[in-house]
Amino acid sequence: MLDRLVRRSERTGFRPSRLKQVLTISENLAPGLREYCREVWGAPIVDTYSTREAGYLALQCPDAEHYHLQSETVLVEILNSVGEACAPGEIGRVIVTALHNLAMPLLRYDVGDYAEAGEPCPCGRGLPVIRCILGRRQNMLRLPSGGERWPLLSSGDIGKLVALAPIRQYQFAQTHRDRIEVRLRVGRPLTDDEARVIVDWAHAKFGGAFRIELTFPAELSRTASGKFEDFISLL
Ligand SMILES: [Zn+2]
Repeated sequence: MLDRLVRRSERTGFRPSRLKQVLTISENLAPGLREYCREVWGAPIVDTYSTREAGYLALQCPDAEHYHLQSETVLVEILNSVGEACAPGEIGRVIVTALHNLAMPLLRYDVGDYAEAGEPCPCGRGLPVIRCILGRRQNMLRLPSGGERWPLLSSGDIGKLVALAPIRQYQFAQTHRDRIEVRLRVGRPLTDDEARVIVDWAHAKFGGAFRIELTFPAELSRTASGKFEDFISLL
């Protein structure tokens, strides 16, 4: 939502005045959005990582762009594929134990997200650090050659995409190991040339081995809790 607001603001020249910060919550912060927001609105993003089950898990450090775990209220573990604590720079599952929810205890509960562990922060707060939150397993791209990765669509990627055609909204769904559906809501039917450059963009972004299919649904799907995910895997 924020990406769309900033993009529209850049296009129309209308900018919110006296804005000091932009607070983001609920969805994953796309790479490049901090820089883009600062460039167009002149305001920094302050991001919060929370879950419905355990409340605030991590808040952004006032001195940096990474997050401090809220260890006073919740024990958060970032565990790798063999169940060991991740070293800084390693990505793993987010496992939480809420320390004060006595009505509904959650012990080593897997919230379904993945995050990257970080180095201790020099700011002096002393709380453990996570560098970024990467989303859920369903947001991972499975590669035709085996292996998997997070596609992480950046503001730069999306800027290039929406410049190619009158695209109002987009979503990418991996439907098969070697197939990605590009779901678009558009202002008018696309020309063959526009469709071709979008397929080229998708090949450059996801890899040439994928078959890219463009579809034009009336609505794009959201999660049960109403979150919009720009990349989902149906595998
Ligand atoms: Zn800090």
